[in-house]
Amino acid sequence: MAVAHASHTAESEPFALKAEYTFERFIKGDGNLLACAACQAVADSPGQAYNPLFLYGKVGLGKTHLLHAIGNEVLRTQPWMRVIYITSERFAIELIHAIRQNRMERFRRRYRTVDILLIDDVHFFKDKEGTQEELFHTFNELYEKGRQIVLSSDRPPEELSHLQERLVSRFRWGLVADIQPPNYETRLAILRAKAKEMGLTLGDDVLELIAQRITSSVRALEGALIRAAAYADLQGQIPRPELLEEVLPQEPSTEPALDIETIKEEVARRYEVSVSDLEGSSRERRVAQARHIAIYLARELTNSSFPAIGQAFGRRDHSTVMHAYRKVKELLKAPLFCSEIEELKEALRARAEARHPH
Ligand code: ADP
Ligand code: MG
Repeated sequence: MAVAHASHTAESEPFALKAEYTFERFIKGDGNLLACAACQAVADSPGQAYNPLFLYGKVGLGKTHLLHAIGNEVLRTQPWMRVIYITSERFAIELIHAIRQNRMERFRRRYRTVDILLIDDVHFFKDKEGTQEELFHTFNELYEKGRQIVLSSDRPPEELSHLQERLVSRFRWGLVADIQPPNYETRLAILRAKAKEMGLTLGDDVLELIAQRITSSVRALEGALIRAAAYADLQGQIPRPELLEEVLPQEPSTEPALDIETIKEEVARRYEVSVSDLEGSSRERRVAQARHIAIYLARELTNSSFPAIGQAFGRRDHSTVMHAYRKVKELLKAPLFCSEIEELKEALRARAEARHPH
């Protein structure tokens, strides 16, 4: 049952709104002010404030929380409204089921008649089984009827290059709002609120230490808080900051782990060549340039040595690799090329982040 009504939001339902994901429990701070205000405006007047609303931000920064908060708020104030929260993966699965079971009409009726459609993680949309096609038509129909659409993604629309352009362009018709990682003050405020919610008695010095240490996401903050609390339980005492050093996870370096294979795939995709082109010996300008870029990125974003990179690129020797690296470095003096490479780096980081959420 995809439609969430206030009366049945059982845990077991994959679509159910999580009751604890409310605006009250969402701590506002520098990184999320715009996104949060936009979500509240949408909950106050669905279909009228911003349509669609597109939220984007790295993993663990509160996108899902905000989507649910909109749904919860609307059902609280306007319980007659029909709200669907769904992830893009689930949407695809539902669609496949509907096709197999000859229930497309029902599927369409369900998704194209809601008042508010909340679609999470649209970056996971693939072009399989016409899911993008279906979303496109769903979007159009809802939009025309003035129904509210809210989407979330781990990257801005312009970086959703694997999605259909006509779909992505619609994502930008309304408001695009980003969520940035919280600053120290916000992290501390979040920790205080969460500690209180969880009924934890942790000293301010402990919370401050966590806020200093853990900077990447709110989910990571929650994890650290739970570890600190578990530690306190085990030790039967409130942890002192010195002892906490041991239990706090080492924050993964801000550069998430990337491997050369991923870089090759992404570069190949961007420049419309194949991975084997990158490894091969074609000197066609387009291919050679893509290869040089991939080599440059491999050097910049992984810890690999030039010889190791050479191995990964069709056993080239390290002087060839170094040459390619220097060449790209030289080209980076051109602003346009530089921003192209920056964009690629961002996309790669997002991929790494998506695969190793912390
Ligand atoms: P995302 O969907 O962006 O990956 P989530 O919405 O799942 O992130 O958030 C991860 C966790 O952090 C959730 O438990 C959520 O409640 C919490 N969280 C995120 N941002 C905030 C915030 N500003 N205030 C309170 N809790 C937050
Ligand atoms: Mg999420």
